[in-house]
Amino acid sequence: MTPSLLQHRALVLFSGGQDSTTCLAWALSRYQTVETLGFDYGQRHAIELAMRPQLLEKIRAFSPEWDARLGQDHVLDLSLISQLSHTAMTQNIAIEMLENGLPNTFVPGRNLMFMMVAATLAYRRDISVLVGGMCETDFSGYPDCRDDSMKALQVALNLGMATRLNIETPLMWLDKADTWQLAEKLGGSPLVELIRTDTHTCYLGERGQMHLWGHGCGICPACELRARGYQAYQQKALTNS
Ligand code: ZN
Repeated sequence: MTPSLLQHRALVLFSGGQDSTTCLAWALSRYQTVETLGFDYGQRHAIELAMRPQLLEKIRAFSPEWDARLGQDHVLDLSLISQLSHTAMTQNIAIEMLENGLPNTFVPGRNLMFMMVAATLAYRRDISVLVGGMCETDFSGYPDCRDDSMKALQVALNLGMATRLNIETPLMWLDKADTWQLAEKLGGSPLVELIRTDTHTCYLGERGQMHLWGHGCGICPACELRARGYQAYQQKALTNS
């Protein structure tokens, strides 16, 4: 915990997935007030959105401190995204690699738009820290998850809105196993268990079967990444015990 940061108000981009839930726990351990923001953009994995309210309630139950710090939840309609782009994230088409080396789950401008909308909301809510789960270490090659993209965006937003916003990306240099480890550090095995059973990552939005690493189709890139990460986390835990 960093006491000097506690006075700041933070807004977490909270989708209800593994990464953003870990980011929320990270923010709750640092900032005095933490609000959450989710987007409805016609994503195929809309089950994430459906899981958010109960996930937030369970996070509240973790400690009186987290309960007191967790503020308002916002859900905004960004259906504009599905009107603008034709991708496997919003359309019922097969997931594949494109000629430009990016998977067709990449929604151009999505994370940039998310941060811009978050910054606009933060302006109204007097919030100075935006927290996002973007990660450069273990990702699908999305250019808007890069540290440089987020740093450049922070500069652009602050210039364009005359603010002093900080964009925090606590997972930027962590791999998926490290992300599980961070959750354990923040909330012990109960938080790991909550993330394992209640968060949703699958691109296809399948809740389906409960695997060792959580619910999901088990074959899409997001499920594969989550499964590999959980396995690596467990192996590390075994090695260290
Ligand atoms: Zn899946």
